[in-house]
Amino acid sequence: MTADTESSTRWQTIRKHVAGLPVRPNLVDYDATCATFSWDAARHALAGLPGGRGVNIAYEAVDRHAAGPNADREALRFVRADGSTHSLSYAALAEESSRFASVLRGLGIGRGDRVFSLIGRVPELYVAVLGTFKNASVFCPLFSAFGPEPVRQRLHLGGGRALVTTRALYRKKVAPVRDSLPELQHVFLVDAAGDPEPGTLDLAALMRDAPPYGEIAATQPEEMALLHFTSGTTGTPKGAIHVHDAVTAHYATGLFALDLHPDDVYWCTADPGWVTGTSYGVIAPLVHGVTAIVDEEELDADRWYRILEEQKVTVWYTAPTALRMLMKSGTERAAAHDLSALRFVASVGEPLNPEVVVWGQEALGLPVHDNWWQTETGGIMIANLVATEIRPGSMGRPLPGVEAGLVARDDEGNPVLRGNEALLVTQPDTVGELALRPGWPSMFRGYLNEEERYRRCFVGGWYLTGDLAKRDADGYYWFVGRGDDVIKSSGHLIGPFEVESSLMEHEAVAEAAAIGIPDPVAGQVVKAFVELKPGFEPGEHLRLEIIGFARKRLGPAVAPRELEFTTSLPKTRSGKILRRLLKARELGLPEGDTSTVEVPR
Ligand code: ATP
Ligand code: MG
Repeated sequence: MTADTESSTRWQTIRKHVAGLPVRPNLVDYDATCATFSWDAARHALAGLPGGRGVNIAYEAVDRHAAGPNADREALRFVRADGSTHSLSYAALAEESSRFASVLRGLGIGRGDRVFSLIGRVPELYVAVLGTFKNASVFCPLFSAFGPEPVRQRLHLGGGRALVTTRALYRKKVAPVRDSLPELQHVFLVDAAGDPEPGTLDLAALMRDAPPYGEIAATQPEEMALLHFTSGTTGTPKGAIHVHDAVTAHYATGLFALDLHPDDVYWCTADPGWVTGTSYGVIAPLVHGVTAIVDEEELDADRWYRILEEQKVTVWYTAPTALRMLMKSGTERAAAHDLSALRFVASVGEPLNPEVVVWGQEALGLPVHDNWWQTETGGIMIANLVATEIRPGSMGRPLPGVEAGLVARDDEGNPVLRGNEALLVTQPDTVGELALRPGWPSMFRGYLNEEERYRRCFVGGWYLTGDLAKRDADGYYWFVGRGDDVIKSSGHLIGPFEVESSLMEHEAVAEAAAIGIPDPVAGQVVKAFVELKPGFEPGEHLRLEIIGFARKRLGPAVAPRELEFTTSLPKTRSGKILRRLLKARELGLPEGDTSTVEVPR
């Protein structure tokens, strides 16, 4: 085929696919959009603070809608434990968040001061995020399941002056460490009901009495808005600093990667304690003026299917760990629900095994679109798009405005330089360190109190992500593994993702994790930890069968040499498999920072 006919065939396929979709995607012509896109143009699609006073995320997300025809539209729809819902309109959210800003101001909390949250997914959390932005203060969400020590560490590192929480969380997690947090001046309880604990304030009462806030504080695009701690998968969590201009990227990525349209009912399952829950659980959907669903409860397969059905969710953004859990609970459960409103499903956070993409098609009637980004990137960078074919197992292609590359690494894993520029891997299907050209608006502007660590991320004109990937001849990126997780065996570089994905193709396997263990001959060999689906019993026969199955698919050099059954893989609280912990336990080494480890229930 000539290049011309190949491109016209590809176009025909895209046209046919697009014609079959319920709404026309925001991004159809990938190449043309990438060629013409500029971040400045994206900035123009936003309003900016009235009078040219700057940019404020809360204004873009809420007040601008509250002042127009969307005022009465549902901004957030909360689903309670019993399935009933309560909503906040754009107008109500604007009003409430201004009250919160007024409370902050009344207590002398101002520009650049850090406001933390330690609370579940309740309206006050959303009100607090937006109110903090309005007051030019900096928001730092903590995951409500953290124990007292991770809470103390982060509040201390981030210099938190105020905290929004509940009575129970305060008693259990903050009161025991309050004495060691002299900077924490104000603790707001959302459920004080007129009777706050000693040393805390009744938020509802303060909000009721707060004078009008008036104009949103004039924040500049480069002013700090958010502090987000990373998941701690590789070690001690880092505090990534984000600025108000990040909203430009939340807008553009919501448009292109999540394909948000004004009538969408959108559900992001991530907790706002993590960056996904803020960038895509709060900011992006509100900037687009859609209705965002918030589940106040925890993951449960039947509940989730019910929410998709009853709330008529159209766009769903979730994570591989949740999807694998739904898969484990059986396809029949999905079949019992009418999911016909759903038109787009995306996932982030960990590699998405091809098996899950295929399951999506069977169970949900839609494939799952993987995308890649990090706390540091603040927004989606690489994605499978609604208009183009999915390559199961691939993360997709860089979004418009994002320049990605693969930097060559030497034998020690250091980036290779040619003069001042990093040397790029140009051969298709060759491993390099995934890197991004700095300059997108939601890029982190620093690691809090760790200037040197921040500087080390930038080498030879690129931001180095710490992840290894390959790119195929069509520009699709394929995740190989985190730099630290990659296994070197007899000169091969083995990505744990590849091993885990093929293990998951075995009918008995629900989840898998692969690590490298020392071997006198090969340097390292692969060891796999496997969790079985309900109905399968661990045993020697099954162990050998799964190893044999993997050997057939991967070849003996890559397949696990050892395999151990487990009933719960260690994970971060955001649901990521902690290979470093498996490795430390296997080798009898110190476990390192375990502040974000999920305690098995
Ligand atoms: P820490 O930096 O503290 O070790 P973390 O890297 O897990 O924790 P996050 O910023 O929440 O913290 O996660 C980003 C990382 O998650 C990416 O660098 C990548 O390793 C992984 N990741 C995210 N999305 C994907 C994806 N679609 N495919 C593969 N890996 C992904
Ligand atoms: Mg990281």
